[in-house]
Amino acid sequence: MSYKEGMLREDALKGKTILVTGGGTGLGKSMGLYFLKLGANLVITSRKLDVLGATAKEMESETGGKVLALSCDVREIEQVEKMWADALAHYGKIDVVLNNAAGNFISPTERLSTNAFNTVLDIVLKGTSNVTLTAGKSWIQSKQAGTFLNIVTTYAWTGSGYVVPSAAAKAGVLAMTRSLAVEWAKYKIRSNAIAPGPFPTEGAWSRLLPGDLVKKFDPAKKVPVGRVGDHQELANLAAYLVSDFSAYVNGEVITIDGGEWLMGAGEFNNLDMIPQEMWDMMEASRGKKG
Ligand code: NAP
Repeated sequence: MSYKEGMLREDALKGKTILVTGGGTGLGKSMGLYFLKLGANLVITSRKLDVLGATAKEMESETGGKVLALSCDVREIEQVEKMWADALAHYGKIDVVLNNAAGNFISPTERLSTNAFNTVLDIVLKGTSNVTLTAGKSWIQSKQAGTFLNIVTTYAWTGSGYVVPSAAAKAGVLAMTRSLAVEWAKYKIRSNAIAPGPFPTEGAWSRLLPGDLVKKFDPAKKVPVGRVGDHQELANLAAYLVSDFSAYVNGEVITIDGGEWLMGAGEFNNLDMIPQEMWDMMEASRGKKG
């Protein structure tokens, strides 16, 4: 057995239709592909229909499953409502929404224009609330059970310099996840979140850390388990959280980061850099005093 293998049994998502925002690339694509392998029908949506179309074709030929590609900018409520109506018309029902679409810039905050700051807030926070409100109202009105899974980050609660709009927006998404987990449970709607640590994708790495930067700030070096995440590990967790096996998990955020954020948080964690000889000396000097 390896963490690179699928974990759930083959029919775990059979009969479910799952909508993935940002499902044409990166982590959304990997999670969507695994949902398909587990028997789900899929809707993938983002702005670039050509990318979505190519991904849908690739996914269908790999799994034999059904993938509907719909273009939609999550910042625009009219587009979200149309996308939802088209997806419903196609499949008859949608059971799960994976809010995964996001945008981000790495920059000193004072260098960001108001427009750049707002763009990230709009995609991440407003985009998630647009999709959540549209799906939630539809589920409540049709008395259908539903499941939300929102992709956040660990700096949703620690905060982080240089990605301030993203941190602010993801914190909002986390608050929304926990709030609706309580408010909408009476409608049989569950809400959970995943906070991934570093997982290699074009969007998160090549664009955020271009050129040599990714080598200089090698994300694996900040992870206690000594490596970055494998997409299948995230897909396994996501599949569990959207499946009925997790029916009693509600309002939770699950971190999957190899211990990365705690390593930065623990006051003495960087003492890893002290060599054994120095520990020996310190122990010896304590022994003398005692
Ligand atoms: P990615 O490939 O760039 O994914 C982002 C997706 O969002 C793209 O498919 C993009 O498609 C879509 N998108 C952007 N703006 C949109 C808009 N206005 N409307 C609709 N869709 C939009 O990057 P990723 O690394 O897979 O990120 C996926 C999620 O994981 C994000 O929520 C990210 O914050 C989170 N995350 C990733 C990491 C990591 O290490 N990779 C770590 C922590 C959290 P279009 O361009 O076609 O619109």
